[in-house]
Amino acid sequence: MTSSMAASHSVGKVAKDVIFGASAACREAVSKYGSEKVTNATIGAIMDDNGHLACIPIVEKVLRTLPINDLISYAPISGVPEYLDMTTALTFGDHRPDGYTAAVATAGGTGGIHHTIWNYTEMGDSVLTSNWFWGTYNMLCHEAGRKLVTYPLFDEKLHFNINAFSAKVDELIAKQDSLLIIINAPAHNPTGYSLSESEWSDVLAVCRKHAKIPGKKITIMVDIAYIDFAGEKNETRKFMQQFSNLPDNILTIFTFSMSKGYTVYGQRCGSMIGLSSSKEVITEFANINKYTSRATWSNVNHGAMALLVAINKDKTLQKQFEIERDALYQMIRRRGAIFMEEAQECGLKALPYKAGFFLSIPAKNATAVCDKMHDDLIFAVPLKAGVRIAVCSVPINKMHGIAKKVLNTLNTI
Ligand code: PLP
Repeated sequence: MTSSMAASHSVGKVAKDVIFGASAACREAVSKYGSEKVTNATIGAIMDDNGHLACIPIVEKVLRTLPINDLISYAPISGVPEYLDMTTALTFGDHRPDGYTAAVATAGGTGGIHHTIWNYTEMGDSVLTSNWFWGTYNMLCHEAGRKLVTYPLFDEKLHFNINAFSAKVDELIAKQDSLLIIINAPAHNPTGYSLSESEWSDVLAVCRKHAKIPGKKITIMVDIAYIDFAGEKNETRKFMQQFSNLPDNILTIFTFSMSKGYTVYGQRCGSMIGLSSSKEVITEFANINKYTSRATWSNVNHGAMALLVAINKDKTLQKQFEIERDALYQMIRRRGAIFMEEAQECGLKALPYKAGFFLSIPAKNATAVCDKMHDDLIFAVPLKAGVRIAVCSVPINKMHGIAKKVLNTLNTI
């Protein structure tokens, strides 16, 4: 009897959605006890302090007034040229590294990650990221016939674990000619960590060392999905300058996303920006990623690209937009600060949260911890190595006391 019609490489694929499970339990609690009593720390989107999905006001205003043709017509496969120029400029701010660049529009940041894995690693290769990582990286690698391997993100002092990173790069580069390294920073999901200038410099030193081996190709993908909630615009982009003039067998790709930065998650719009000291590598980048777009989704959301262009070409609108987005950043920052201060006071060992949507607490049996926290009507996401709290989604009045409750729960498990 045939029990599966799937091709051999697709047998057994099930997208395990732990976030969905946690939010289903949360919805049930809300219907039983009322939303006032329940803390939903599962959602990866900004909820305002009244518990509503936040939209940057100028984004809503501009989106609703875009000409219909901008919304319904096909966009160029590579993306609207003005959009590509603007996403490049927005990615680098005042810290544009020296080198050639090109941009290709993508379906969210996810689309850029997809293209990077497909076009810059060989079938069966291992892709490297840290042990705390966004679960979708694993699915994206698996779907493309690649493996995701990890190094411990933190050393014993809770700094970036450069020795572990270096050892893993050594090991992989000995086995394969192409190596893709994914680093999600600043404001990493799920820990909220941001590498310091000197940690970035150490990472690049390791890459430079291995790039000296003839025949090796290293791609560093910097996932900047949360960069606009990581601090002052140019301060958070300073590290990018360090990517200037790398050898031509190191390619850097920054994956830009409108999802968080413009609060338009469902509009599915992003941009991948390639940077290299070789003009040929960048011409190839534009060509092969455009090809993969055509062969994957064709063109991306024209309206979202028009939205970004409309906001950023008008300096007054742009200023207003930045002020409004900054208000959301400050809101998240205050929430994170409450948790981290209380964690320190009560002795809860949270990971070093610097900024962003999420923070994490290491835990051996995270599922049991999260289940037990349901008794306190707190809903968080269990990860392999700990519990993720979405500070982006918890109103400020509900942030107080969570750290202590997490600690108490950890002590009872
Ligand atoms: N990278 C990380 C680490 C994320 O958490 C997300 C979204 O959750 C993304 C990239 C990309 O999101 P999107 O495809 O919505 O732009």
